[in-house]
Amino acid sequence: MAIRTPLQYIDSLKDGRVVYCLGERVEDVTTHPILKICLNWMAMDYVLQQDPQFAELVTDRDESGDVVSFVFLPQKSREDLLRLRDVVKMWARVCFGKPSGAKFVGKDGLNALTVVAPRVDREHGTEYAANVEAYRRYLMDTDASLALGMTDVKGDRSLRPSQQKPHQDYYVHIVKEKSDGIVVRGAKAHISQAPLSNEILVLPCRAMREDDKGYAVSFGVPVNAPGLTMISAEPEVKEPGNFFDYPLSSSVYINDAMIIFDDVFIPNDRVFLKAEWPFAGQIAYMFGNFHRLSAETYKAAELEILTGAAALMAEYNNVEHIPHIKEKLTWLVHYTEATEIMGRAACDHCVSEPDSDLVYPNPMYANVAKFFFADNWHTGIKYLQDIAGGIVGTCPSAADHFNPEIHGLLDKYLGAREGVPTEHRLRLVKLIRDLGSSYEDIITLHAEGSLAAQKLSIYALADFERYKAAAKRAARIEDGSTDQIYSQLPQFPPMV
Ligand SMILES: Cc1cc2nc3c(=O)[nH]c(=O)nc-3n(C[C@H](O)[C@H](O)[C@H](O)COP(=O)(O)OP(=O)(O)OC[C@H]3O[C@@H](n4cnc5c(N)ncnc54)[C@H](O)[C@@H]3O)c2cc1C
Repeated sequence: MAIRTPLQYIDSLKDGRVVYCLGERVEDVTTHPILKICLNWMAMDYVLQQDPQFAELVTDRDESGDVVSFVFLPQKSREDLLRLRDVVKMWARVCFGKPSGAKFVGKDGLNALTVVAPRVDREHGTEYAANVEAYRRYLMDTDASLALGMTDVKGDRSLRPSQQKPHQDYYVHIVKEKSDGIVVRGAKAHISQAPLSNEILVLPCRAMREDDKGYAVSFGVPVNAPGLTMISAEPEVKEPGNFFDYPLSSSVYINDAMIIFDDVFIPNDRVFLKAEWPFAGQIAYMFGNFHRLSAETYKAAELEILTGAAALMAEYNNVEHIPHIKEKLTWLVHYTEATEIMGRAACDHCVSEPDSDLVYPNPMYANVAKFFFADNWHTGIKYLQDIAGGIVGTCPSAADHFNPEIHGLLDKYLGAREGVPTEHRLRLVKLIRDLGSSYEDIITLHAEGSLAAQKLSIYALADFERYKAAAKRAARIEDGSTDQIYSQLPQFPPMV
């Protein structure tokens, strides 16, 4: 079985996994009213793989000719990377700005390990690259849904993993080594889609020192492994199935869950790093390189919705010709298109990796793009809310709107521009409210790494020598230093 149907995916989730949601243990995640929102969103991955219109984009053949999910194949060229971007963008456009999650984050972790595992093997004589490839093969053969567990709960942010108090389980770590595997303990937080996945790929979330070597651990684990408990994130939606009041949050629930590893056994062939501490940071950094691309791609699609909502509300309220509204709409277009351009540039100028035959998005461009969209999100929401007016905060519910006793009154008094049905305006109002939720703010700011993480990368990657050479040339400073670009340029102004 290389490509699963949506029903095969759904059936695979009835496996005794331990999931809690809204205070209760969930016996069957496929029938729970809230978890089903996440399930349906993830199932779109499998729907699209079966759809003749999209199958050519989202599936491919592996070396033995089997049809597999394209995103599980390693990307080896600029064209592969651009195609991956097209897949993520299509997923996001289909699912209202949030790419269908069955493999969305996991694939980036798999690629990060593909790059770093051979480095560890070379230095330590381990066989992690073979383990990673076998895991990739398993994921392709079973067409698994794969969550990515990197972010530890972390405890005191100023202390390293092994220094934490009153216990040292704030970061997932090895508590026992056996001849056939390892036992791990600790907790990961905000792990998207985990309760509705088949597998979790676990990576270290930071660089480690020798004292922390037990925390330098990476592995793949089925979600029903004994000792593994998942606690769902509180959903935004208050009434599942109410698409009028909650157009986004009743359609997409990413369920960024907490995962507790209470002495979980991991067999040797599922281990990808075991205490080789200098490589923990490399894995986290490499995951960031791959995942930034996913982030800016889906965000560009989400921004189309945001900017579209602002333009549509301006049209419905008949304010689109007013100068300050036009100025805000112009800003939103600039924000949307710049995010798109930067994400694409990161693929166009991708980097090849000497330790593997993979390519990954240009790290400087990808970090700049991620920082740009996250840093500007709240301004974008401010403009959208400003254009839409107070109704976004005070709009009556669908229950009132469709109540025959008062429907006529609401229809009459909540109308705007003549010819625009009141119901259309109210549906748009509800979309704008969902877009401006605190969940949307937080996911934009923190998912795929906080702003400080991008700033660190941008500073570390900056070609300051090039910038300094440019400044020295303009200032006529001759200090004997040379630069590949600026020392080769002709004299300016010309001596004519
Ligand atoms: C909706 C959502 C989905 C997510 N999905 C996933 C997922 O699927 N898988 C996954 O692994 N992770 C996921 N994440 C986690 C995400 O990567 C983190 O939220 C992010 O890296 C920030 O970490 P944190 O939440 O622990 O915040 P904190 O680390 O507490 O950060 C809060 C602030 O403190 C600063 N800070 C913290 N520690 C330090 C320090 N030592 N030095 C300097 N500054 C510091 C940060 O820069 C930030 O400004 C998700 C997050 C969200 C919100």
